[in-house]
Parts: sequence; C-alpha cells; structure tokens
Amino acid sequence: MADFGAGELDAFRAEVKAWLEANYPAELRDPKVKSDPEAMWGGRAFAGSNDPQIVWMRKMAQKGWTAPTWPKEYGGGGLTPQQARVLDQELAAGRYHAPLASFGIWMLGPVLLEYATEAQKKEYLPKIINGEIRWCQGYSEPGAGSDLASLQTKCEDKGDHWLINGQKIWTSYADKADWCFCLVRTDTTKKHEGISFVLIDMSKPGVETRPIQLISGESPFCETFFTDVQLPKDALVGKVNGGWEIAKRLLQYERQNISGGFGGGGGAGGAAGDLGSIAKTYAGVDEAGRVADHDLRQRVTQNKMNFQALGQTIARTAAEARASNGPSAATSIIKYAAASFAQERSELMVEAMGHQGLGWDGEGYAPGELLAVRGWLRSKGNSIEGGTSEININVVSKRVLGLPDPK
Ligand SMILES: Cc1cc2nc3c(=O)[nH]c(=O)nc-3n(C[C@H](O)[C@H](O)[C@H](O)COP(=O)(O)OP(=O)(O)OC[C@H]3O[C@@H](n4cnc5c(N)ncnc54)[C@H](O)[C@@H]3O)c2cc1C
Repeated sequence: MADFGAGELDAFRAEVKAWLEANYPAELRDPKVKSDPEAMWGGRAFAGSNDPQIVWMRKMAQKGWTAPTWPKEYGGGGLTPQQARVLDQELAAGRYHAPLASFGIWMLGPVLLEYATEAQKKEYLPKIINGEIRWCQGYSEPGAGSDLASLQTKCEDKGDHWLINGQKIWTSYADKADWCFCLVRTDTTKKHEGISFVLIDMSKPGVETRPIQLISGESPFCETFFTDVQLPKDALVGKVNGGWEIAKRLLQYERQNISGGFGGGGGAGGAAGDLGSIAKTYAGVDEAGRVADHDLRQRVTQNKMNFQALGQTIARTAAEARASNGPSAATSIIKYAAASFAQERSELMVEAMGHQGLGWDGEGYAPGELLAVRGWLRSKGNSIEGGTSEININVVSKRVLGLPDPK
C-alpha cells in the first residue's frame, strides 16, 4: 500500500471531517430520540428499519467505512492503515457512534479474507460490511473450553451435504444471531487435525438456542444445539480438517479486539462513568482538587495510566498487524493486561462508592451505582472470555517467549 505524506493525510482528514459532519444523523445527538440498543449489531432483525443507528450504519457501509481497510472489491473502504487511523481519530473527536458492532467485522471477516474461496468472500464480506448478518461464535463446548481442540460437535460428509450434530455453550448472542461461525469435528481419530471451520445459518431446521443467565443479571449468551443440521458443501471454509489454523487465527483477532473494548468498559463497567470523577464524587477532593484519599488516588491514577499505556500499545500493535501479516500471538499479552486493568477498574469503582457500591436493585441507589455493581460482576468474565488469563499466559510463554513445555 502507498505511504501517505503529511499533506495528503491532512487533506484526507479534512475530507473525513466534512463527510462525517454532513452525514451523521442529527437524531443520534438528540437525547429525546431513542435508538434501539440492539441496532448497533445490525442483522436480519433490522432489515428495512429506519432506526437512526441503522441509517448511520448504512451510510458508513456505503463508504466502506464499517470495514475501513478491507479491499474495495468486497465493499470495504480500501483505506491505508494511516487513513484508517485518521478515520478512527475523527470518529472519536466528534463523539460519533461506532457505526456497527460486529463479530463479522472483528473476527470472521479477517479470516475469510485470508482463508475463504473467492466465491465465499463475494458472498459473505459485503453482507458483513453492510451489517446484514449478525454472527455468533460457536467455539466452546461443555467439555471443550480452554482445551478447545477437544471439541466433539460432529460434522459428517454425506456426499452432497454436511450433517452437524452436537452442542456449543457460552455462545454470546446466539439467540439474536443470524449465522454462526463454528468449529466442528470432521475426523474423530485425530485431535487438532480433525477440526474444520463451518458457517451455519441459524434459521436452519435443527438449530436451537437456550439463553443462560449470568450473575450480572444479563443473559447475553446461550447453549446452542445442532440436531441433524444439513449444510451445503460450500459452508466449510479452508481445508477439510484444516480448521484449527483458522480457529487460532480468529482468536488472535478476537483477543486484539476485545482488549480494545475493555478500555471502553469491559461490559457494563465503563457505562457507570469515568473512574477518576467517580472517585472524586464519593471520596471527596483535597484543596488541590484531587481525590482526597491518598491511597485511593494513587490506585486510581495507576489504573488510568495503565489504560493510557494499553491504548497506545493496542494502537501500535494494531498498526503493525495491519502493515504485516495480521496479529500475532502477542495479542495474548494485550488480552491478559487488558482483562487485569478492566477488573481492577471495576473493583476500584465499587470500592470508591463505599456502601453505595453494594446495591443490586431498588430505591436508595442511583442508576450509575447499580450499573457499577453490575459492571463489577460482569468484569469477572473479562479474564475468561476469548481465552482465560491462564491460557493467555501459556500462549505468551510458548509462542512469544519460546519457553519449553514443563516436564
Ligand atoms: C463473557 C463471555 C463470553 C463468551 N462468549 C463466547 C462465545 O461467543 N463463543 C464461545 O464459543 N465461547 C464463549 N465464551 C466461553 C469462553 O471462551 C470459555 O469460557 C473459556 O475459553 C474457558 O473455558 P471454560 O469455561 O470451559 O473453562 P475451563 O477450560 O474449564 O477452565 C477452568 C479454569 O481452569 C484453568 N485452566 C484450564 N486449562 C488450563 C491450563 N492448561 N493451564 C492453566 N490453567 C488452565 C482456566 O484458566 C480456568 O481458570 C465466553 C465466555 C465469557 C465469560
């Protein structure tokens, strides 16, 4: 890709700024207008919808800016990494809503670009970019979490179709998803070399989802059952029994992306507000306007500095990844650090609130206090989702530091 000089980037920035200002739906800035909170995930449920968030998503998708660096031939923006960074900066500076939240953009699309056939790319990438399909991730099973390659969901070759039978668990938003990218077993005599990567339309007969309730009170994920689900032969991505390589690659993208998300809250945590402001409100301020409690002030400051450093490290490694062959095992370092900082922030938030940080429901608690408590409970999952902290440390030991297996 061509390298852009400062002058060209400045011109691009001015163009982006003007376009965003001209095209952002005014309703999204109007507190009286309510947008459906699910709209940012797009999908079939919002086909034909005029929700302002969907209007915004469509406009951005037409520019290819929901997937800024993907090739133009599939509907992406075709931007260089530097241009994409300018777009990110302008979106943040203008406090514009993200146009689309999508497992398709964050995880599936990048591996389709790398491993899918031309026909599969043409079929799925434009639909991901346009937010037409909401995807879920069918990796974990009751007996296969950290040891993911133990998965048992069976995929049999029936000549003119694949036949899927098995169960997935912790499938985030499976009940709302249109399609699932899924790991299945195509060879029962091997472990890693017996896994394939398939795409499943969730409206097919034999697919069933059951939501699971969490300690935070939400039900964002499901048990997912496949009973005699028939898939066309072109539903398999890459080689038969070659799915493990794709699975690992996708996890790198996932770890890179969710780490960035923890910076913004890690679930509901960030929704409660800025940690520094909350600490000042509840612990009071000294004569210099700082958090009055010295120990709390130090820990809040350290946490904010950690997030600053993390944000810059994520931006640097993402730029490196875009300029080379995509993310590496080093994403496990970031995922581990991001989960630790996000959990620490949630702990500090409820600690700063004192007894007001103990409420679950009812009168006597402000909405922000209830959000902070639910965010604190949700943050327990930060060190589990996308691979546990222990597993990420193992990846760093083996794949980044090159340490041998313990004897
Ligand atoms: C919020 C959230 C969203 C999720 N969304 C999805 C999703 O959309 N799709 C999906 O497929 N899955 C999803 N998951 C599941 C997640 O990927 C698994 O929970 C995770 O991989 C751990 O698997 P497990 O729960 O079976 O725990 P286990 O693998 O049973 O682990 C239990 C404990 O043992 C430790 N442990 C296990 N093996 C080792 C080892 N070799 N060395 C050191 N310690 C070890 C683990 O670190 C952990 O503390 C989600 C999880 C959460 C919390």
